[in-house]
Amino acid sequence: MPVSGLGPYDDANIFAKILRGEIPSRLVYEDGWAFAFHDIAPQAPVHVLVIPRGRYVSLADFSASASNEEIVGFFRAVGVVARELGLEEPGYRAVANIGAHGGQEVPHFHVHLFGGEALSGRMVNPRVG
Ligand code: 5GP
Repeated sequence: MPVSGLGPYDDANIFAKILRGEIPSRLVYEDGWAFAFHDIAPQAPVHVLVIPRGRYVSLADFSASASNEEIVGFFRAVGVVARELGLEEPGYRAVANIGAHGGQEVPHFHVHLFGGEALSGRMVNPRVG
């Protein structure tokens, strides 16, 4: 059961449609656990979303309900994506918004990768400012 207050997983959410190939995305990376694509409204020179293939509404849901294999596979993929994008050096920011107070808009767990320039020192999504 989802634990984030976002309700049960909705197979009609936009990232589910992207995963199923029903709407297009600019693919960055995919493997058995994860799928990564460019954000449609980038907030940094590089803004990529990494999502698990499984049906999890949020990080809260994913961390509570996903198998160890899914969690390891997903987070290893996040690191691979950042490395392959050339973000590891000089660095980047990884953000997961969770629920209403976290500003989460799409109810399929995703990690934002921001990079390509020196980011604000504040520990927030640059979009919020
Ligand atoms: P959240 O606020 O849920 O953490 O972030 C959702 C992100 O998904 C936003 O940065 C938004 O720009 C992005 N987004 C929303 N719809 C689409 C879409 O159809 N395609 C892509 N590539 N990104 C989307």
